Amino acid sequence: MEQTERKTCIVCGEPKDEGITIVTEFICTSCESEMVRTSAQDEKYPFFVRQLRQLWVRFHV
Ligand SMILES: [Zn+2]
Repeated sequence: MEQTERKTCIVCGEPKDEGITIVTEFICTSCESEMVRTSAQDEKYPFFVRQLRQLWVRFHV
């Protein structure tokens, strides 16, 4: 286990210890929980969608 390894979150761009990896991309725990709370009406929603779109683009290549 490499628990001290830091990965860069694709949403906030910060190096974080804790989070989830989807395909090859990393999302930190705080961004993940914030995305869960964000509704489609929230002004932050398009930002999250845009960041996550990077995942889908790479995944489908
Ligand atoms: Zn983050």
